[in-house]
Amino acid sequence: MNEKGISNQKLTDLLDTAKSNDVGYERVLSAMCTYPHDVAVQAHTKFIEANMGDPGLFPGTYSLEKEVINMMGQLLHCSSVHGYITTGGTESNIQALRTMVNSSNVANPNVIVPESAHFSFDKIANILGIEVKKAELDSKFKVDIGSVKSLIDSNTIGLVGIAGSTEFGQIDPINSLSDIALENNLYLHVDAAFGGFVIPFLETSYHFDFVLDGVTSIALDPHKMGFSTIPSGGILFRNREDLNHLQTHTPYLTISTQSSLTGTRSGASVAATYAVMSYLGKEGYRQIVKQCMDLTNDLVEGAKKIGINPLIEPVMNVVTLDVQDPDTLRARLRDEFGWYVSITRNPRALRLVLMPHLTHKNLDLFLQDLEKLVKI
Ligand code: PLP
Repeated sequence: MNEKGISNQKLTDLLDTAKSNDVGYERVLSAMCTYPHDVAVQAHTKFIEANMGDPGLFPGTYSLEKEVINMMGQLLHCSSVHGYITTGGTESNIQALRTMVNSSNVANPNVIVPESAHFSFDKIANILGIEVKKAELDSKFKVDIGSVKSLIDSNTIGLVGIAGSTEFGQIDPINSLSDIALENNLYLHVDAAFGGFVIPFLETSYHFDFVLDGVTSIALDPHKMGFSTIPSGGILFRNREDLNHLQTHTPYLTISTQSSLTGTRSGASVAATYAVMSYLGKEGYRQIVKQCMDLTNDLVEGAKKIGINPLIEPVMNVVTLDVQDPDTLRARLRDEFGWYVSITRNPRALRLVLMPHLTHKNLDLFLQDLEKLVKI
């Protein structure tokens, strides 16, 4: 840091230069985030100083958080949920598994997750010092229930199911996982960080949430398909005592206990999420999800026309394309045409997420560029 500060103009120039080096989302097909909705941005700015770590000072913002948690709970079929706005899927997943660990008396606990689980579960194993066992997937990239059952032992404290897997956009058989959880008296956390704001608005209906008695917690991210600002995540628990397992005493704040992972946390993302959920309503989300699914279907049709098939017919707005040498193709799409796509781990395929920042026009351009590369 310099001794003397710089002028406002100089600062603006520096910030503009940095910003111009960022990639606009228009050609990004690899991200699960997008441009936040205008109403979210406005609310975020209005509540920029609000700290949910000390809610006694911000009772107005805190009332919005309670309202947001209720709205999310109702969306996922539970009228009395308990939770808070996190910084995203990673924090929500950490908290769900911390609850499992804190409430159990098992010496070396393990949790069973699908092989398709987000890498946040590897971080969690490291942070919590627990074993995270990976269950195999079936041919459609859903968790294999036989594999889950075979991994359960006397040290298992919980199961995880994914509703909208990061790589395949697939939904695990949460109903079967729910039955297993109930039979074995295990926690069942559903990672719906991506799918939580998609699945309820699809034309096909899926049972993946608190409608299933065995589901104890759900992660869903407003900063992904919820159009809120980063960092907005959500963790919901069916039972109050599961949130209580996360409590720490907070002697010098306006409240006596805290259940969140971070201390200081953003009230701005709370207000942003409240704003966009209230403004769009279910009808607004349904419309946006339909737009994304139309793009998804157009992409798959267009890809098939140039001889590329998806690994599975898409369940939501995530597509995996079975191409030769996906790594080279990914690099060439970026270097020659400015498209950002990603790759699945196993099997290796091109992974595309059809977020609302994409247009049919850009999708046509993408398909033309893809065709040029696969035809060579
Ligand atoms: N869970 C799933 C299913 C995800 O797709 C992601 C991110 O893409 C996460 C968790 C982690 O979310 P975050 O990056 O917000 O921590």
